Amino acid sequence: MSNFIPVCEPFLDGREREYVEKTIRDGWISSSGEYINEFEKKFAQYMGVKNAITTNNGTTALHLALAALKIGPGDEVIIPDFTMIATAFSVCYTGAKPVFVDADLLTWNMDVSKIEEKVTAKTKAIMCVHIYGHPCDMESLKSIAKKHNLFLIEDAAEVHGATFNSEKCGTIGEVGCFSLFANKIITTGEGGMVITNDDHLAERCRYLKNLSFPLRGPREYIHEEIGFNYRMSNVIAAIGAAQVEKMDFYIQKRKEVEKIYQEKLKNVPGILFQKKISGSDPICWMVSITVDEKKYGRSRNELMDILKENGIESRKFFYPMHRQPALKNFGCDINGSYPNSIQLSETGLYLPSATNLAEEKIDRVSCVIQKHQK
Ligand SMILES: *Cc1c(COP(=O)(O)O)cnc(C)c1O
Repeated sequence: MSNFIPVCEPFLDGREREYVEKTIRDGWISSSGEYINEFEKKFAQYMGVKNAITTNNGTTALHLALAALKIGPGDEVIIPDFTMIATAFSVCYTGAKPVFVDADLLTWNMDVSKIEEKVTAKTKAIMCVHIYGHPCDMESLKSIAKKHNLFLIEDAAEVHGATFNSEKCGTIGEVGCFSLFANKIITTGEGGMVITNDDHLAERCRYLKNLSFPLRGPREYIHEEIGFNYRMSNVIAAIGAAQVEKMDFYIQKRKEVEKIYQEKLKNVPGILFQKKISGSDPICWMVSITVDEKKYGRSRNELMDILKENGIESRKFFYPMHRQPALKNFGCDINGSYPNSIQLSETGLYLPSATNLAEEKIDRVSCVIQKHQK
């Protein structure tokens, strides 16, 4: 269908082709090459942080951060129940257990008032997720982490460039992890980044991500720790180096997309947007809404079917962690009470959100939503 509107498309608007062609012309296509350093340097500069370490995706960025902090079997890591599965899986890879906290219904982020009841003697870290581009309450999270002597890890996969109290998300905890997947704010197709101001932690990340080859000295093929191959290739980094040059532009464009939707949908009863917390300057990862069936007259699923019939792709919100079969089999808590997380997963969807989505398409989507309200 030529009129089909996909939920997201990557937007490669800068010098991507030029940089990629250079890697191929020069033959530097492995993880050695100038664009790795350049991308890391530019990303660190943008975030205002001392160290940025590329990885091959966002999931491995999270695992690498946890491994570098020496989190492992017997430990517990607190995560939101309402998140993308990679948050939980990265904890599982270390042998530690993810412990879930219910969401807040207005911000859709982890409800910080429900964290402390989940802290045990085994808890080593809180991994917060800035869901759909909205910063968590980092002030509360920092004070809880400090009080219980826990690491604060930011899953910043969806939040490139957003701030809390003027600090960039991903730089507020010990370590922040980004995804560069095709639908994220900047993308390399597949890719990830770990950022930290802690030089020692950064060294550990660089060491572990390269199969624990010693960082200095001659190559002797002697490895002191179990490491991983989470390296990014120079070809991919070339795309990243071009993307990061235009980060502010991409952020601005998506904000504009969201603003147009908000304007057009503001009078449709039962269509609700995410609420930002005070002190935060969110970005828009995906234009996300929840459907209040009583007010809108139709369920989320009905609305998604109608959108589909009109050639418009949409996506359901994430499915609660405590209901994931894989995590249940891993021994995670499935009996706890997570009503808000369930409600979000049953009523939420995201709308077409591409960075360069034309206003006329946003108009078409909004009209379909408006017209089918009962
Ligand atoms: C996208 C995403 C990830 C994983 O990133 P990949 O690059 O797809 O591995 C992790 N956490 C959250 C919250 C995400 O949205």
